[in-house]
This record gives sequence, structure tokens and C-alpha cells, in this order.
Amino acid sequence: MVDVAIIGAGPGGYVAALRAAQLGAQVVLIERDQVGGVCLNQGCIPSKALLRSVEVYRLAREGRRFGVTASEVKLDWKVAQARKREVIKRLAEGVKHLLERAGVEVMQGEAHFVSPDAVVVDGGERIEARYFVIATGSHPARPPIPGLDLPGVLDSQQALELEELPESICIIGGGAIGVEFAALFASAGVQVTLIEMLPQLLPMLDRTLGQGIRRSLERRRVKVLTGARVTGIKVADEGLQVAVATEGEERQVLAEKVLYAVGRRPNVEGLGLGTAGVRHDKSGIAVDEWMRTNVPTIYAIGDVAQGRWQLAHVASHEGMVAAENISGRRVRMRYNAVPACVFSSPEVASVGLSEEEAREQGYDVRIGIFDLNGNGKALADGETEGFVKVVAEGEVGQVLGVHAIGPHVSELIMEGAMAVSLEATLEEFAASIHPHPTVSEALAEAALAVEGRAIHSLQGYR
Ligand code: FAD
Repeated sequence: MVDVAIIGAGPGGYVAALRAAQLGAQVVLIERDQVGGVCLNQGCIPSKALLRSVEVYRLAREGRRFGVTASEVKLDWKVAQARKREVIKRLAEGVKHLLERAGVEVMQGEAHFVSPDAVVVDGGERIEARYFVIATGSHPARPPIPGLDLPGVLDSQQALELEELPESICIIGGGAIGVEFAALFASAGVQVTLIEMLPQLLPMLDRTLGQGIRRSLERRRVKVLTGARVTGIKVADEGLQVAVATEGEERQVLAEKVLYAVGRRPNVEGLGLGTAGVRHDKSGIAVDEWMRTNVPTIYAIGDVAQGRWQLAHVASHEGMVAAENISGRRVRMRYNAVPACVFSSPEVASVGLSEEEAREQGYDVRIGIFDLNGNGKALADGETEGFVKVVAEGEVGQVLGVHAIGPHVSELIMEGAMAVSLEATLEEFAASIHPHPTVSEALAEAALAVEGRAIHSLQGYR
């Protein structure tokens, strides 16, 4: 009997394995496909590698305004794909090396519970463990749209593996993944239509972010339809015809490819959860704040666990919390300061409460917004599209949320995350000296703007 058996080697499972090994446990990590999971092989990393290629392409095409002229700027998608595969390979090798060094035994195969304290792998070898961590992740949700099985209709994994760029693509779903793909394909020169059923893009985030990213996508000639429901897909003379219902009106969108990105469903099927007695439903496995299921020796983490966030860094953090608790420490999972990023161009980043959530929770809400047109570094970089918004409460000025669109905001948002998690006040936030010239200065300015005293904004002098 081993100490811990972990099912699934994504960013949740492999991090849980490494932390458990650091804490002295004998660990078996069971993976049916590839170490690194969706994140490393079909999600975060491949999408960012391709986004980097199109970003370099965009900058090369826009070089003229920086005084750089290049002739024959071309995007070679096959090279971009080869580079993506190389990035994945290097990272996967790194993770495997770490697991080996930590003494984690990696088993290839599909695990299935045969009792609360044993699984069999590929129907053969039986693994008994004192504790289990279920980290089986998720798969793309398939919306019930007639025509979804037609050739040319893709999920996110297939879209990331396209060997050739299409002329046009219709993306169903305006959440983080849909918006990222819209930015990717638009920057690559593909004609993009982005369709979202709810009234705005990025519906989980502060409303201003959805509005801002819509403006910026439209500037890049993406056709955005919100409050729009796809009712069917069929084959047309040139590609696919997507029927869309908007405010009682039916319209048709023609595209060479269709991508659906309408959320992800937890991988709970075929695991023998019933046999193990683990409480779960379609939304995932029920866990407490210690990441424990209803069976005290079985934990669940990452996308397969119930909860609001399906993010790699949340999965990893939950993995560490599970490993700590299994080893006898007492660590709670807290979700009040989870940074969420969309790697579009410009980027979107958010942490803490949106303005709407803060109002719903009854706070006396104060807002500060600083536009990147007033930021020296953004101007010098020629990337002034965007803003930073700080949400605070009126009594002591506690920072409740930070939301931003702009260059590198996915890196900057950690300052907001620290402020929210340490319950910093506006005064403390703004009193920290920010390096000049950096986009991070916009965060301090947004905090000052809450009280109408941003320095580099006309609003500071009313
Ligand atoms: P997964 O990464 O899904 O890994 C689960 C693993 O379990 C898989 O390898 C699977 O093969 C294995 N498995 C399943 N069942 C069994 C079984 N019975 N036996 C053995 N093995 C099994 N998140 C971010 O934070 N940032 C991003 O930029 C980002 N970009 C994304 C882009 C795309 C296109 C997609 C699709 C997702 C993106 N995500 C991003 C989300 C992120 O990929 C997931 O939140 C993350 O991978 C979840 O990690 P996990 O460990 O829970 O599961």
C-alpha cells in the first residue's frame, strides 16, 4: 500500500504529487494520456505559444510606426505550430524530470476505483493507497446544437492543432477561451465572428472588461454578436453556415471553420466514483475547504472539483493544499484573491470582486479608473489601449478588486492579488512606490483615482 495515489497528471495532479513527495510521502501518479494534462498539452501553453507567434507577426506588420520597415512579413503557421510543439516538449520533459527527481512513480494508464482504498489501472494492476487525490480534469462541453458533428466544427484542442489557418472562423462562446481564440485568429489575419449568448463578453468578470475587450476586438475587425444564440450549423457552398438568433431575428454567419468554446465539463465518468462512494454530480466532485470529498481519505482538486474556477493555477494550489492536509497539516483553500487572465491582445486580468459583485454584497462601493493613455510606458511602447480599475469600499478604503486591460496586465495583476488577499487599503496600495516608467504605475494611479487624486489624469484636478 502506497501513501498517496494521484489520478491525473495535469497541473493539479503533478503539483500535488511533487508537494506530497517533498513532505515525505510515497507517491504514485497515474496518467492515461500525457503528463502535464490539458494545460500543458492542449490548453494554456500551446495557446500562449501560438499567441506569441501572432503577436510577433502583428508587431512586425506594425513596425512602420516604430520606424522599422520590413518587407514581405509573413506568418508561417506550420513553423508556429512546430515551435508550439517544441515548447510543449521542453516543458513536459522538465515536469517528468522533476517527478523522477522527487521519487514519484508515474504509471501510464486509466485508473478506476474498485473500492474506497483501491484502483485498478487499465483494468489490470491494482493500486492500494492510504489516500487518493482525484485530479482528472475536464473536457470541452458540447452544446446541443444541430450540426456540431459536421467536419470543420472544432473544439479548442482541434483548433490549436490546425495545420493551416482558415480564411474565416465563427467562434461560439465569448468567455476566456473564445476571446483568446478570437484574438489569436484575428491577429493572424483570419476573418473572425465571435458569438456570445449573454449580453456581454467575458460574462464572469467586471462588466467594463467585457466592454473594453469588445471594443478592442472590433478594432481588429472581429465581428462580435452578443445576446445571440446559435441554433444550428449546416454545410453551405463555401464552408459552414451558422444560424444565429438575436432579439427575435435570425441571421446567418458563413465561415470556413466553426469553433465551440462554451465551457468545460468535469471528467467524472468511468472513474468508479459510485463504487468508492464519492459524492458528485454533473458539475463535478463535491469537496470541502480542505479539498476533501465526503470520503475522508479521498481528495479532489482542479477542474474535476466543484467550484467557480477552472484555472491551472487554482488546480495547482488546490493540489498543494490537498498534499499538505494529507500529510497531517491543516491548510484551507481560499478563493477571495484568484487572479484570472485572458491572453488576448491587449490582455485582460482581474482579481477579487467586480463592481457588480461588490454592490450585490452590500459594500459602499468606490471606483477608480485610470486610462493607459496617461501612462508613460504604455505610450512609449505604443500600447495605450486599456485601463486599470480599482474597486474599493468606502469606510476604510479596503481594496476589493482590481481589473485591467492592457499590455502585460497578466503579470501586473499579482499586485492586485496581494492587495486583495492582504486586505490592503487604498492608502497602502498607493503609498507603495511603483517603478517608472512601467505600466504598474497605472495601478497606483487607479487607486488614487478612487479619491479623485490621480496625478496623471485630468480627473485629479476638477
Ligand atoms: P487537466 O489539466 O485536465 O489534467 C487532468 C489529467 O487527468 C489529464 O491529463 C487526463 O488525461 C488525466 N485523466 C483523466 N481521467 C483519468 C483517469 N481515469 N486515469 C488516469 N488519468 C486520467 N488555465 C489557466 O490558468 N490559464 C490559461 O491561460 C488557460 N488557458 C487555457 C486554454 C485552453 C484552450 C484550455 C482548453 C484551457 C485553458 N486553461 C487555462 C484551463 C486549464 O487548462 C485547466 O484549468 C487545467 O488544465 C486544469 O488542471 P487539472 O489538473 O485539474 O486537469
